[in-house]
Amino acid sequence: MYTLPDLEVLRDFNAIAVLTSGGDSPGMNPAVRGVVRAALNNGIQVYGVQRGYSGLLAGDLRVMTSASVRNIVQRGGTILKSDRCEEFKQKEVRKRAIEVLKSNGIDALVVIGGDGSLTGAHLLAEESDLAIIGLPGTIDNDIFGTEDTIGFDTAVNTALDAIDKIRDTASSHERHFLVEVMGRNSGFLATHVGIAAGAEMVIVPEYEVHIEQLGQQLSESRRTGKGSSGIIVVAEGQEPGLTYRLAQQLKQLGEEPRVCILGHIQRGGRPSGHDRVLASSLGAMSVNYLLAGYSDIMVGIADGAIVDVPLDSVIRYRKGLDPKLFELALLLHK
Ligand code: ADP
Repeated sequence: MYTLPDLEVLRDFNAIAVLTSGGDSPGMNPAVRGVVRAALNNGIQVYGVQRGYSGLLAGDLRVMTSASVRNIVQRGGTILKSDRCEEFKQKEVRKRAIEVLKSNGIDALVVIGGDGSLTGAHLLAEESDLAIIGLPGTIDNDIFGTEDTIGFDTAVNTALDAIDKIRDTASSHERHFLVEVMGRNSGFLATHVGIAAGAEMVIVPEYEVHIEQLGQQLSESRRTGKGSSGIIVVAEGQEPGLTYRLAQQLKQLGEEPRVCILGHIQRGGRPSGHDRVLASSLGAMSVNYLLAGYSDIMVGIADGAIVDVPLDSVIRYRKGLDPKLFELALLLHK
């Protein structure tokens, strides 16, 4: 599967902690299991922090044993719970978190989460002498420095399961469906789902929607008999209700599309085999990176290999949707 780096053991740890933060994603559990089992195999004590940064501030830490992560590799969500903690954006508050870790004899922290969580992780590394490692856990796959994120593959498959079912009814009733998938700032999920579902059109935040053109395309395919039904995948974008507005606009152009918002089902469910291997590998390797003396990095994937990326660049740069992939999604239905 992945090429693993050769890392020398250069330091040791008294204890490390692991937390999951921000939007949960399928695969966080195998990632936690990877961290816990790798640490224990190296004789390091591990604490599981409950409810992300909120639980860290509250000192809600539990000693993890090998049994704590038994029978979780296949479970969606996160046994550690996740949370959003607005106050963590304040430096004085993060200082309290550092004190909690130190007072428990913890000298390293692994943070599993998205962009926001990794920003918090980077700041903790900058503001303390703790060793901090981030792992990309998000269904959006929008993290700079890694080709893949924990949960993306499962979310694509969950959306496909739903779309395959919607296509049956779309076809029976000769209708077009606008299916909204997650993706506030990025169209990775929508583009992958669009290609895999054979969608008639994909709408993503990165590119403007030409609604008249879409309306023409739908009526043309109806007129020529090429497609009286079909799926248009829409990334939710920043604008709440975008998909309903698009449906209204298409109605004014004479089309009668139905709307289906997939919503939170995309975050849940058993992690796919791919995500289990990814999460387990990244989780275990985060401990090897710690032992090799690394800190303030994210462990991710590049060219099929496990790599380290400075957290500073992970949060500074934006991962762009490959325009060629997006073009492909549009081309394939023509
Ligand atoms: P995700 O990690 O999935 O992107 P969020 O953006 O909601 O989710 O971030 C999760 C948590 O990470 C926030 O609730 C907050 O505790 C922390 N966080 C986000 N942005 C920052 C920031 N700029 N500084 C410090 N902590 C942050």
